[in-house]
Amino acid sequence: MSKFEIPFNKPFFTGREAYHVSLAVTQGKISGNGLYTAKTQEFFCGKYGFGKTLLTHSCTAALEMAAILANIQPGDEVIMPSFTFVSTANAFVLRSAKIVFADCLRDFPNIDISTIEPLITAKTKAIVVVHYAGIACDMDPILQLAAEKGIPVIEDAAHAIDSYYKGRPLGSIGQMATFSFHETKNITCGEGGMLVLNDEQYFNRAEIIWEKGTNRAAFYRGEVDKYGWVDIGSSYLPSDLVAAFLFGQLEMLEEIQKKRVSVFQRYYSNLKPLAEKSLFSLPEIPGYATCNGHLFYLVTRSAAERDNLLSFLKQKGVQAVFHYLPLHMSSFFAAKHDGRALPNTIRFSESLIRLPLFYEITDQQVDYVCECIVQYFKK
Ligand SMILES: *Cc1c(COP(=O)(O)O)cnc(C)c1O
Repeated sequence: MSKFEIPFNKPFFTGREAYHVSLAVTQGKISGNGLYTAKTQEFFCGKYGFGKTLLTHSCTAALEMAAILANIQPGDEVIMPSFTFVSTANAFVLRSAKIVFADCLRDFPNIDISTIEPLITAKTKAIVVVHYAGIACDMDPILQLAAEKGIPVIEDAAHAIDSYYKGRPLGSIGQMATFSFHETKNITCGEGGMLVLNDEQYFNRAEIIWEKGTNRAAFYRGEVDKYGWVDIGSSYLPSDLVAAFLFGQLEMLEEIQKKRVSVFQRYYSNLKPLAEKSLFSLPEIPGYATCNGHLFYLVTRSAAERDNLLSFLKQKGVQAVFHYLPLHMSSFFAAKHDGRALPNTIRFSESLIRLPLFYEITDQQVDYVCECIVQYFKK
C-alpha cells in the first residue's frame, strides 16, 4: 500500500476481466490475433468509426509501428510537441529520424499550430500531435497544413479514448493514431495499446509489420496459400489473453467515462473560485473539444509554488504529481536540439500539477484534495 491516503492513481477492475480471460483459455487459442483480439478491434471500429485497428503491447509499440508505416528514413524530420511522453519521440528516433520539437500553446499544453509551419522542410515526413489530457488539439488547421504539404498526421491519442473534436472521435482524424491501455489510462489491460489506421494505404502493410514482417494475417484469412517474410516488422501483437482482459473493461466503458468526467467536473467547480482569484489556472475546454476525464491539472504561478504545493499535499496524504519533463531538454536529447526556446513547454513543465483521478475516488476524497489546496493558499 502507498503511504498516501489518496493515491494518484488506482487501476479499476470491472470484475468482468477474469470471465473473459477464462473464456479465452477455454477456447484454446491464446496467441495473438485471436477471437478476443478481433472482438476488441471491432468494438473500437464500430464505436468510433476508426478505419482499421490493431491491438498492440503498448502505445509505445503502436507509435513504433506508425513510424515504420510513415516510412521514416534516416535523417527524415518529424515535428511533435516537446511536452509529451518519451515514447512519442523515441519511436521515431528508433527509425533514425530527426525530431523537431514544437512549443505548446500559452494557455493549454497542446501543440501550438502556428509554430508548426515554419518548422516544415522538404525532409518533414510526419507531424505528431498529442491530445493532452484527452482534450483535442485544433485539428482542422493542422490537417489543412499537412494536406497542403502532403505530410501524414499521427495522433498520439494515449490520453484520448472516448473524446471528440467537433463531433469527431479523437483517433479517427489523422492518417494514424495510437492509444494506450496502460494502467494509468482510462481503460486498461495493465500494459496495452492500439494502432488506428484511417488511410487505406496503410492497412496491408500494418498487418505485416504487426506479425513480424510476415503475411500471416492474410494467410489466416485464406488470401494467400503460404505465408513468409515479406517486409520488416516485429512482434507487436499482444496475446489474446490481454485482449480478453481489455474486453472485460469495455463492457463498462460508458460508466467509467461518466464517473471520470464527473470527477473532473467536481475538481473544476470546487477549484474555480481560487482560479478566479488568479491563484492558479485550470484546464479550460475549447468549444471544439470534449472532456474525457483522463486527467485533471492545475497550473501554478511559479515553479517554486508548484513544488511547495506538491509537498504540502504530500504532508496531507495526497499524492499529486507534476507532468512531463520537456523532451528537448532531456539528457538524451538536449545536445541534439536546435536551440529554439520553447517557453510554454518549460512553463507547463515547471508549474503543472496533476491531481488524483481514478474511477473509485469518492466525492469526499475529491473535496478533501480541494480543501487541502484551499488551505495551502490561505497560509
Ligand atoms: C502513456 C503515454 C504513452 C505510452 O503509452 P504506453 O502504453 O505505456 O506505451 C505515449 N504517449 C503519451 C502521450 C502517453 O501519455
